[in-house]
Amino acid sequence: MKKILFLVIILAIAAGLFWAVSNRAVRFVSSKPKIVVSGYVPYTLTKQLVGNTAEVLMLLPPGAEPHSFEPTPGALVALNQADAFIYVSDELEPWAADLAKTVGEQTRVLQLAKLIRPDKDPHIWMDFYKAELMVYQIGALLAEIAPQNRSVTDKNWKNFDAQLYELKEAFQAGLSHCKYNEVVHIGHLAFGNLLRPYGITLTALSGSSHEGEHSAKKIAQLAREINAKKIPAIFTEDVISPRLAQTVAAETGAEILPLYSIEHISKQDFENQVSYTDLMHRNLENLKRGLVCPAF
Ligand SMILES: [Zn+2]
Repeated sequence: MKKILFLVIILAIAAGLFWAVSNRAVRFVSSKPKIVVSGYVPYTLTKQLVGNTAEVLMLLPPGAEPHSFEPTPGALVALNQADAFIYVSDELEPWAADLAKTVGEQTRVLQLAKLIRPDKDPHIWMDFYKAELMVYQIGALLAEIAPQNRSVTDKNWKNFDAQLYELKEAFQAGLSHCKYNEVVHIGHLAFGNLLRPYGITLTALSGSSHEGEHSAKKIAQLAREINAKKIPAIFTEDVISPRLAQTVAAETGAEILPLYSIEHISKQDFENQVSYTDLMHRNLENLKRGLVCPAF
């Protein structure tokens, strides 16, 4: 009886959560240019450029992950009112590719990966040069849909380019002479493009989406590898249960450090409008700590 009651309570909580997520209001409230974006990557890049001159609605709720998201009916209404719909790629967000097919002529569709050479790894924004190209496409789109705001967006664009340049320099300087050159990530393969330029290899628990088995055997194998190489830190991401990283940490004594893939965002970071460059600076600090790099 107790078991049944417990199950009923769990189901009620799950239904409540589903209701809260599916009823999250996705609607425009101003007369500014209207932009719908799939997830946090196009959101933060677009916001960086438009500032307060346009309204930007994100379909993926904070905390959700983009590879297997189901949009709500409210998304369709917002899309039909939007001047533009921006998403990363058909590969990363098949659901956004489906939505893009439903929009009317009044909504411009921008798939950011379109100008970028296809790659097995869909996390293209992890490469700073590709991120620059993504921003370029957003800038060109804004010039078309909101030419009246061009002086603001051009200025913001220039600032963002300068921030990206600084970021590249900081990564180059910060990760050049580290004691370790292997990132063990208790998450999915999202960081290859970020780490490759600095000769850092990536071992991840899952593949390039969030699916994949986290078998006890695989975790034990990873723990053995960490112990053998005396790796001092493991990296994790917030959408994956912390239990896995804690299990590996308990068996190896490794410190757990977060890495931010930017494709999903915590509620708190979303409320604080934490930007692409902010998250990348956090990544750099944690990488420098975990890989034991100089000047830390
Ligand atoms: Zn991903």
